[in-house]
Amino acid sequence: RDSRQFGRDNSENGGGQDAKNLRVKLVLLGDSGVGKSCIVLRFVRGQFDPTSKVTVGASFLSQTIALQDSTTVKFEIWDTAGQERYAALAPLYYRGAAVAVVVYDITSPESFSKAQYWVKELQKHGSPEIVLALVGNKADLHEKREVAVQDGIDYAEKNGMFFIETSAKTADNINELFEEIAKRLPRPSAS
Ligand code: GDP
Repeated sequence: RDSRQFGRDNSENGGGQDAKNLRVKLVLLGDSGVGKSCIVLRFVRGQFDPTSKVTVGASFLSQTIALQDSTTVKFEIWDTAGQERYAALAPLYYRGAAVAVVVYDITSPESFSKAQYWVKELQKHGSPEIVLALVGNKADLHEKREVAVQDGIDYAEKNGMFFIETSAKTADNINELFEEIAKRLPRPSAS
């Protein structure tokens, strides 16, 4: 039995985390412009609205999903607030994160290189049990594709990550992304 208590709030009255109701901190990393805010808005609000930036300051947006085994997972999704531009601040941002979603844009090889930088960074400094997802976003722009699907698959496989291509614009695979992450979370032991 897995006895890890991931993302658990140590105060016993701190949020009702138990084996059936998980609460996890999720961070998104990746180049500016790859669509991180749009992915979050699509997932949380069901909208694609490039003009409305997620401006949550020191706080986060949260969204709960229910899995088939009646477990619920509440994602607390932290906005980067531009911190991806300041590498030195990044550890403050992903500390304590149970999940890191590393995003690139399939039309931008540079953003794919940057994603690989973030993966290495998380492997070095993130929690050892962190669930890592690699996301190729803007999959709707297939005519402008410059990163092959197979490159994403291969890199993710080598690094033990989950991989998916999404489109925040069409909503393709957005819910699937978060559902797959939820399935991969370590479960606290039912006591
Ligand atoms: P962030 O800097 O990573 O948070 O990126 P944003 O979420 O602000 O998105 C940057 C730009 O990419 C915006 O102009 C969006 O309209 C566009 N964008 C985001 N996701 C998609 C997508 O899935 N498809 C397309 N075609 N454009 C997208």
